[in-house]
Amino acid sequence: MVSQDPACVFCKIIRREAPASIVDEDELTLSFLDIQPINPGHTLVVPKAHAASLAELGPSDGGRMFERAMAIAEMLRQSGLRCEGVNFHLADGKAAGQEVFHLHLHVIPRYVGDGFGFRRGPQSGRRAERDELDAIATRLRTGRAGH
Ligand SMILES: [Zn+2]
Repeated sequence: MVSQDPACVFCKIIRREAPASIVDEDELTLSFLDIQPINPGHTLVVPKAHAASLAELGPSDGGRMFERAMAIAEMLRQSGLRCEGVNFHLADGKAAGQEVFHLHLHVIPRYVGDGFGFRRGPQSGRRAERDELDAIATRLRTGRAGH
């Protein structure tokens, strides 16, 4: 069953009530070109069932999104568009850069010198100590702080 949010722009695209340049479609996902591409061929893979966040995304929808993103990466490599590499990017939450709250997986064709990249923050770059990493891994596994 496909649930739809009447105000959501991606749901409107899925219902064909808003324009999009469609690259791929199956029963669970729709893929279309990003209106503000990082590079030509930049594609968004979205679940047809409206999910604002990863917490709302069903595992089969998530798995299918990744499968279709893999297929689109191959399409980009075969397309003749400039594509020497591919990034997948998914933003879950405003702090992660999510702007449209219908979850989407970016498939971004890349080439040397395109100028795109992730910018590291001031806390990054330091090599972590093993005991610190082990404590965080324990915390993630158990859902609480280690000792
Ligand atoms: Zn939606």
